[in-house]
Amino acid sequence: MFLLQSSTSFNWHNLLFGEEDWSFLPEVLLRSVIMFTVTVIALRLIGKRGIMQGVFEIVTIITLGSAAGDPMFYKKVGVLPAIFVFIAIVGMYRIINFFTSRVKFLERVIEGKNVRLLKDNRFAVENFKRVELGQDEIFSDLRMKGITHLGQVEAVYIEASGQLSIFFWPDEKVIYGLPLRPEIYEMKTKEIRLKAIYSCAYCANTKNIGPCKKHVCEICSKEEWVEALNANTG
Ligand SMILES: [Zn+2]
Repeated sequence: MFLLQSSTSFNWHNLLFGEEDWSFLPEVLLRSVIMFTVTVIALRLIGKRGIMQGVFEIVTIITLGSAAGDPMFYKKVGVLPAIFVFIAIVGMYRIINFFTSRVKFLERVIEGKNVRLLKDNRFAVENFKRVELGQDEIFSDLRMKGITHLGQVEAVYIEASGQLSIFFWPDEKVIYGLPLRPEIYEMKTKEIRLKAIYSCAYCANTKNIGPCKKHVCEICSKEEWVEALNANTG
């Protein structure tokens, strides 16, 4: 019954045009050309470094996106107020950027700070919470950089932009470390059957253990271990 009612009141005109009609379409074209041009100019004024870097830049882009889209197809919204929004946001962006690039404290408050994630061949687990990042995400980012195990890496930082900076050990300095390939990592276990070098599955603390029923990691207090790798390449 409900279906029947809604199908009889279905209005193709509303679906296709909303409250407008054919005559509005050329205007949409003109509005789009204007807003597209304004957006390109605004992004040029923000500069290359600004686009999709930190929190501050993403907020700027989202706000600009909303101001750019609406006047393209809402008859009620004129292009001039939208252009003023652009002027205000780009102006604010440049003023804040001017101060943050000169005052370190402000930069940290607005853009965040880089955090060291890997130190002494293990994760600085005490920093995981600070960067709101799960281990899975870090593993996946490191794998995409071609890292097979953590013994290959001297330091990993998460930058304010959210991207990872990675510093590799030279080949002759590669040591045993936690395997990152899922099929090896998933073989993690609590019981250690053979004496060998193992890495803690959580913090990557790497040491000689075994055989034993269980071994508690002295860094993070977890109990799962993966046999460590020390190959130079995958
Ligand atoms: Zn651990």
